[in-house]
Amino acid sequence: MALLINNRCINCDMCEPECPNEAITMGANIYEINPDKCTECVGHYEQPTCVAVCPIDCIKLDPNRLESEDLLYEKFVELHFEI
Ligand code: SF4
Ligand code: SF4
Repeated sequence: MALLINNRCINCDMCEPECPNEAITMGANIYEINPDKCTECVGHYEQPTCVAVCPIDCIKLDPNRLESEDLLYEKFVELHFEI
């Protein structure tokens, strides 16, 4: 699954620079995750690094973006190694 930032986000800026896929950007009001770029950090880290740094635990799994570990890894390869 991709992850989703919920509306409790306080725009603390902690997560955006930590994402290895540049999937996190400032949206209209709060930070947002581009689900096409979020791999749950598969290929980079053991755990989602944005979740680890968020001080208020407002980054959750997106139930509308169900993806297996294999699919997340394929996304990682496409993002970083395919032209
Ligand atoms: S889980 Fe990883 S890839 Fe997805 S938004 Fe968070 S830091 Fe980026
Ligand atoms: S770390 Fe959490 S509170 Fe801070 S900007 Fe990211 S999602 Fe929002």
